[in-house]
Amino acid sequence: MADANRGVPLLDVNRDNRPLRDEFIEALTEVVDSGRFLFGPDVTSLESEIAGYCQVDNAIGCASGSDALLLPLMALGIGPGDEVIVPSFTFFASVSCITRLGATPVFVDICPDTFNIDPEGIREAITDRTRAIIPVHLFGQCAQIDRICQIAGDRDIPVIEDAAQAIGAAYHSRPAGSWGSVGCFSFYPTKNLGGMGDGGMMTTNDAGTADRLRLFAGHGMRPRYYHQVVGINSRLDTFQAAVLRVKLRRLSDAVQDRQTNADRYSRLLTESKLVASDQVILPPLDPNAFHVWNQYAIRIGDGRRDALRAHLSEHGIGSEIYYPVPMHQQECFEYLNVDRDTMVETERASMEVLNLPIFPSLSEDEQHRVVECIGKFYAAGAKSAAA
Ligand SMILES: *Cc1c(COP(=O)(O)O)cnc(C)c1O
Repeated sequence: MADANRGVPLLDVNRDNRPLRDEFIEALTEVVDSGRFLFGPDVTSLESEIAGYCQVDNAIGCASGSDALLLPLMALGIGPGDEVIVPSFTFFASVSCITRLGATPVFVDICPDTFNIDPEGIREAITDRTRAIIPVHLFGQCAQIDRICQIAGDRDIPVIEDAAQAIGAAYHSRPAGSWGSVGCFSFYPTKNLGGMGDGGMMTTNDAGTADRLRLFAGHGMRPRYYHQVVGINSRLDTFQAAVLRVKLRRLSDAVQDRQTNADRYSRLLTESKLVASDQVILPPLDPNAFHVWNQYAIRIGDGRRDALRAHLSEHGIGSEIYYPVPMHQQECFEYLNVDRDTMVETERASMEVLNLPIFPSLSEDEQHRVVECIGKFYAAGAKSAAA
């Protein structure tokens, strides 16, 4: 391998997008020529295509995944005194949507074997002030959403699925975003369906909920200049919708590429013996889940995760830590005074997790280089330990 020393990027958006360049230009040119930069026909088309893809009756575009989480909570009238159950091992937006409305996040620990929120923990955390539950389908694998919906349904508590990383994922063959009252998606460029800027989508089977989400996303205005509620301005623009429609046609292929890459990593890492020695723990698989691999998250169980990451970085291999600081340990959430003893698995995951490059156009050769580089780190470590 002549280029064995070349680096491997964590993500190469340009490489993924290049084959679609002509289609993007054509679709975007149509938007330029139409002059309909908001509420263009591509937005409506994308909404019905996403609804079809996720097997729900309604999909409503909005400005970001963060707004897709905020709007359902606004539509539910959640505010001060209300509690919303959410994992701490997630991206900030899963939690800020709660505090922004003056409500209180109640953190539940994750299952150590999936990185996803523990349904039994949810059951224990429910009080008479619980107004919603936000499970996160982290890294592209669904939380145990059947159990979660059952626990929530017994008490009539709405479930808002944070499916920002999980478009196309499923649990027991039922798509992410079709289980709860509302499913929330993000089109941030690094997501599996990534746009060329910000964008988001909400899915729901309930027509009344869909109507309320649209109302809140459009200044609460209906009819024009008459405001029923204090909504926000949150729109998916036509340029993004046009780009996303091109990408949606390839999404199943892209997911398949991610799955192929994930299988290959797991095979290569197992062959390297790093797995058997428990230095590297492969990403957990829930047999009921259809995993779409937004992230390939290994655990480094020997306390040397940061040293390994530095070694990879020295050799030009991209990696990332999602997430290094759990939400209950963030400065802005200190006031919640969360008992850290209840967040043991969350804190352990944040110390051990390491995310490797997994984007669809990642080559087999690049994956070999990533695994070789991890192998060399441990070989060097073994030598220095023996010396
Ligand atoms: C990306 C992401 C969001 C927020 O989406 P944006 O489009 O960036 O606002 C929310 N939750 C999770 C789990 C995410 O990964």
